[in-house]
Amino acid sequence: MTVTYLKQADPRPAAENNDIRDIVRIMLANIERDGEQAVRRYAEQLDGWRGDIVLSDASRAAACARVPDEMKADIRFAHGNIRRFAEAQMETVRECEVEVIAGQKQIPVSSAGCYVPGGRYSHIASALMTITTAKVAGVPHITAVSPPRAEGIPDAIVYAMDLSGADLILNLGGVQGVAAMAQGLFGARPADILVGPGNSYVAEAKRMLFCAVGIDMFAGPTDSMVIADHSACAETVAWDLVSQAEHGADSPVWLVSTDRRLADGVMLRARELAGSLPEPNATAARTAWEDRAEVILCDTREEAASVADSYAPEHLQVQAEDLDWWMGRLTAYGSLFLGQETTVPFGDKSSGPNHVLPTSGAARYTGGLSVHKFTKTVTWQRCTAEAAHELARRTARISRSEGMEGHARAAELRLKRG
Ligand code: NAD
Repeated sequence: MTVTYLKQADPRPAAENNDIRDIVRIMLANIERDGEQAVRRYAEQLDGWRGDIVLSDASRAAACARVPDEMKADIRFAHGNIRRFAEAQMETVRECEVEVIAGQKQIPVSSAGCYVPGGRYSHIASALMTITTAKVAGVPHITAVSPPRAEGIPDAIVYAMDLSGADLILNLGGVQGVAAMAQGLFGARPADILVGPGNSYVAEAKRMLFCAVGIDMFAGPTDSMVIADHSACAETVAWDLVSQAEHGADSPVWLVSTDRRLADGVMLRARELAGSLPEPNATAARTAWEDRAEVILCDTREEAASVADSYAPEHLQVQAEDLDWWMGRLTAYGSLFLGQETTVPFGDKSSGPNHVLPTSGAARYTGGLSVHKFTKTVTWQRCTAEAAHELARRTARISRSEGMEGHARAAELRLKRG
């Protein structure tokens, strides 16, 4: 296999991750001990928030009223697409005839906590993606949190939370927001599952709380890969990479190409394009490009696909010939974007499939957020007297060969009933 790194990321110091772990561990322990008091303290220390934690109905209505009509229409457009996609996901096996009549049901969890990131950008779409999906899954109690700015959670996020069906909104971000939902503070139902993306502190808090509560997946700093061959446009590829580097200096972007000219063209343009963004986006995108980006040259498309599978990126774009081949061959990604007509920002904001996706290689073992993360798939079965006859004889024989006499006798009891 001939794979050449034209640009490689700086290896991240392990100490950085250890620091985050220590900070989050201490914060969670303090919140467990001191409850709402500790949460308020962290909200003030980290986000400068001294206002109400619970968003009142009046404040919610006032925030929604302040959102301009055009923005409301855009949010409703995205909400409609996300809801329809989630509704389609609910369609699954209901009942089928095997030896018995068997079926499965999706039973929603009784409460969900949705984290909507908001430190750097106002992630309106994350409110739609998490809360709408929980609502379609049938979750009866949904709490949503997002970091407050000077005036609280931005109006457009409140509108998106309200439209999607949040029952309770808390002015809280970071570890304290996640912990408040898990513990059921400020009137929230203790969350059965915590979902939503966030920075490294948020992702680590969810990871540490897992087991006590369910989590969707490890959804930390976003990462993206573009696979591009000779047919791709360097300018388009460069923009697609830079637009994802805009998330922040900790967001890696990777280009895998089978064409040296294309790879050189993208490397030449990406830095310039990052610099053309307004500040502070320009610095975020330039730093991510300088420190975290990789450009990998492969001899063949099979090698390119193997590299992509080994990275298991959150977002994977393919700008290459023969999209059907790529669709069939690629096996590890959070969401796949095929062709030059589409782009990750469509999926991020409004096209329908969920944007809460596995990061940091977690796409090797999980997909993104879906209605199924909010439901428990449980099964049931009923049996006719005729079917019981056949099942009893075979079950008893298997049980006895396993040494399980009790199982065998319980099965044979059904023979007498027939
Ligand atoms: P955020 O809401 O995740 O984090 C902000 C919070 O971090 C603040 O409220 C603060 O309480 C806490 N915090 C900041 N510094 C801290 C410190 N030193 N100690 C303890 N807590 C601290 O918002 P963000 O920072 O803008 O990050 C959003 C993240 O979400 C980005 O990394 C982005 O890539 C990611 N994202 C991922 C997806 C996905 O699907 N994977 C989608 C959208 C966004």
